[in-house]
Amino acid sequence: MEGYILALDQGTTSCRAILFDHDGRIRSLAQKEFPQYFPQPGWVEHDPMEIWSAQLSVAMEAMATVGVGAAEVAAIGITNQRETTILWDRRTGRPICHAIVWQCRRTAEMVDALTPAQRSLIQERTGLVPDAYFSASKIAWILDHVEGARERAKAGELAFGTVDSWLIWNLTKGAVHVTDYTNASRTMLFNIHTRRWDRELLDIWDIPEELLPEVCPSSMVYGYTDPAVLGGRIPIAGAAGDQQAALFGQCCFEPGEVKNTYGTGGFLLMNTGHRAISSSHGLLTTIAATREGEELNYALEGSVFVAGSVIQWLRDEMRMVKSAPQSEEYADEVFDTAGVYIVPAFTGLGAPYWNPYARGTVVGLTRGCKKEHFIRAALESIAYQSMDVVQVMEEDAGVKLKGLKVDGGASANNFLMKFQADLMDVPVYRPKCIETTALGASYLAGLAVGYWKNTDEIKENWQLGRTFRPDIASADREKLLRGWHRAVRCAMAWADDREG
Ligand code: ADP
Repeated sequence: MEGYILALDQGTTSCRAILFDHDGRIRSLAQKEFPQYFPQPGWVEHDPMEIWSAQLSVAMEAMATVGVGAAEVAAIGITNQRETTILWDRRTGRPICHAIVWQCRRTAEMVDALTPAQRSLIQERTGLVPDAYFSASKIAWILDHVEGARERAKAGELAFGTVDSWLIWNLTKGAVHVTDYTNASRTMLFNIHTRRWDRELLDIWDIPEELLPEVCPSSMVYGYTDPAVLGGRIPIAGAAGDQQAALFGQCCFEPGEVKNTYGTGGFLLMNTGHRAISSSHGLLTTIAATREGEELNYALEGSVFVAGSVIQWLRDEMRMVKSAPQSEEYADEVFDTAGVYIVPAFTGLGAPYWNPYARGTVVGLTRGCKKEHFIRAALESIAYQSMDVVQVMEEDAGVKLKGLKVDGGASANNFLMKFQADLMDVPVYRPKCIETTALGASYLAGLAVGYWKNTDEIKENWQLGRTFRPDIASADREKLLRGWHRAVRCAMAWADDREG
């Protein structure tokens, strides 16, 4: 097959563009960071024009450095930071204010003010636990605070989009206003069962329907790039939120297949096939990437707030390591943690504990505890937290994990991966290409234009880098887990006993 697929990977701190060939190999990669704005404590914004200009420049750079023109790009696939909210003027294409980023907490009180009936309606229809994280309250905030915005929205003059919509709008010079199911499912306005924007949910926030993009499958031709943008008409043929793109890029096409991304935080997703499983443990039900003409796929998602960032903390605040990879060398120097456990609940604990008041806790210190033990305990905490998520996911889905596919920066740590395999008692598979998010977007786009024939062909591209097999006795595993859960109880006791 001739040509390449161009993946646009629009993340929270940087824009990347990667050209993939038919074997799923990276032919060129360009990356650019863009500014973050923190106008008040807890607020996070991006300038949508800066996102667009950074994204366009890396796309051009990725093509130019290997001399690839628009005619050789078979399709473009997009993957993006999820939930981040942009409103723009349909006529001029100018944003009406900065983007409100997923991390931004400015609308927490709006979400706290929801009635119990509204909360359960939201949960039932969207599969999400109501939170300021999702787009709905962010859109409402903009409509409340930008002068005249709600009236203009009602008159159909404004458009809302997550970052995928914004990029597609700009790539097509305003000809196409769409989003895909995976991104729509993170707005807290989309009914994941009927696959429609939900009138009652829109009413909760007083959001006019005129703002909203058309919702499409994750793999189909949405439109073509305007020739003035990248020098030709390239089909834009795939879009998915970052975690769903990674699930696809890891070839988790069958129900029960799971991937875990070890980045700043950790994101564990299980493909649940055509069943939207609601969790009894606070996991999120979300839409997984689905191709045009196919029945919708769903996923269960559990996140760990502090994963790789506990190693950043060791490096930058504790100054125990000079670099993240060095944590592996230290951990390998000792046989165990000498009974030490670190619970990195810096911002509370997520699934399955959901305790926002828990804080970081170190237990089991003795006079012989060395820095090596401490570092090892920090790495192990990443694996324990993922194990906790897997356990409840298995219960919710009624599926036993057979193996775990991993990616993300900290998946490079061999000690961590081996320990994860020991704890979960299943093999951990690390692919050669850990750029699975961008790869997923390129697969979605390539499938839509026939660059790849089907998912079987894509599976052949999934190349194993290394397998980590469990080899500890179950009594030892249980002892480790008992210790961890005792440590978690300590972190929660600290929260329960707090003043005020
Ligand atoms: P994100 O996409 O969230 O920015 P990345 O996938 O780039 O994150 O991963 C970066 C995170 O992984 C950082 O928190 C870093 O501390 C951690 N990390 C990177 N390499 C290693 C390593 N070898 N061992 C442990 N942690 C690592």
